[in-house]
Amino acid sequence: MNIILFGPPGAGKGTQAKRLQKSRGLIQLSTGDMLRAAVAAGTEYGKKAKEIMEKGELVPDEVVINIISDRLEEDDVKNAPGVIFDGFPRTVAQAEALDKMLAEKGMKLDAVIVLDVDDDALVERITGRFTCAKCGKGYHEKFERPKVEGVCDECGSTEFTRRADDNEETVRQRLEAYHAQTAPLIEYYEKAGIVKRVDGMASIDEVTRQIEQVLDSLS
Ligand code: AMP
Repeated sequence: MNIILFGPPGAGKGTQAKRLQKSRGLIQLSTGDMLRAAVAAGTEYGKKAKEIMEKGELVPDEVVINIISDRLEEDDVKNAPGVIFDGFPRTVAQAEALDKMLAEKGMKLDAVIVLDVDDDALVERITGRFTCAKCGKGYHEKFERPKVEGVCDECGSTEFTRRADDNEETVRQRLEAYHAQTAPLIEYYEKAGIVKRVDGMASIDEVTRQIEQVLDSLS
């Protein structure tokens, strides 16, 4: 089963993808995570992507298309029961490239799950978030603090990181890019008849429940 988790930055795509990875063995393919890893490793395209990401703009289509195409060839992905695209595709050109790639590999998309959220909530959600530096568990200053202050619930680490692009100015630019370039994809997938909507303003557990319900209806 292959799905796209779709929605603006801060909608909860990454949080939900990690939960589905655990519950169903699907593999999360986050182009944002892959680009951040390339930035951290200082690779050639990482250097180019860094500036663009810090401005909140989209990196060129061919860069992310190549990253995804390479990743789909790796054994863990090939052997998994399916994948969750998180943050990809973000433009019509990327969606068309994905269709082509999947057809070539004999794969198909089962659903595009749209997390419906109000724009107003997103800036607060994003600017408050932080992550365990060791295991990657996500937290939020207001909505999901660690049970013991300064200690990760999952792995006990005391180091946390924040994304360089999670500041208010960049978030506004990312939202603009979403509305101009990415939101039109909903119509693209409506035509394919695979769009399913969930209430992204509900609690994290409730959103998971709604997504699981959609996935159960597919299998
Ligand atoms: P994300 O972690 O999905 O919020 O992505 C962080 C940043 O990485 C975005 O603001 C873009 O600059 C870049 N990025 C991630 N995925 C894509 C994509 N599919 N197309 C273009 N740029 C992307």
